[in-house]
Amino acid sequence: MKKVLAFDIDQTLNIAKTPIPDEIADLLISCLDHFEICPISGQKFDQFLIQIVDRLVERGVKPEALAHLHLFVAQGTQYYRYASSGAYNPKNWQQVYNFPLTDEQVAKITSAIETAAKELGYWEEDKLKEGDEIIENRLSQVTFSALGQKAGTEEKYAWDPDCKKRNAIVARAKELAPEFDYEVGGTTSINAITPGMNKKFGMTHLMEELKVTEKDILYFGDMTQPGGNDYPVVQMGIDTITVRSHEDTAYALRGILGVTE
Ligand SMILES: [Mg+2]
Repeated sequence: MKKVLAFDIDQTLNIAKTPIPDEIADLLISCLDHFEICPISGQKFDQFLIQIVDRLVERGVKPEALAHLHLFVAQGTQYYRYASSGAYNPKNWQQVYNFPLTDEQVAKITSAIETAAKELGYWEEDKLKEGDEIIENRLSQVTFSALGQKAGTEEKYAWDPDCKKRNAIVARAKELAPEFDYEVGGTTSINAITPGMNKKFGMTHLMEELKVTEKDILYFGDMTQPGGNDYPVVQMGIDTITVRSHEDTAYALRGILGVTE
């Protein structure tokens, strides 16, 4: 019996960058009664709240059940845990650990990705919404989002469906700043990290914090192919379910929970 269900977020629990649908929220609430639940993604903490936690609260999760929800933010380089059983309050999330990049590392990565995207003609600054940005410092990683954070979902899906643009940017950025790792994720994103600060790092710390081993974990992700940001989990020998969308995840969770409808 698995003890932990771990999930990529974008396109595994939701439509990329949007709050999880009701069905997923309800299934996760049921899962909290039986498993430790660990979303792990390149996103920032506030997006974990908006996309997952707020939805669970809206769907009636008991605050004490949140003790079984473990947020592995920025590929697990930051870990947050909920520490109270009273009425839900987002202030009760506590950061357990954090491994940030240095300012110098952030500057080097930013320059390499920007140069690569500009050389290749993929620097879409003119398409940004007001106040949005293409490259974002997420403390433990730097993230390139080709059309910014605020672009529409359809526009994002259409930008690089076969990952060719992002693979080209990654290849060039790797030449310019080879000391970092670059991973393709979501629909328009590239995450740059220091080597080893990928989902393997996050999952290793998850095992340490939750006192479990690889065998205790079942992981869900949509980018489990070599080069994808879920691949390091596969390489660790953790049992992995590859999904095409949150609908596949819901199907698998219904099976795990024995829900037949
Ligand atoms: Mg994903």
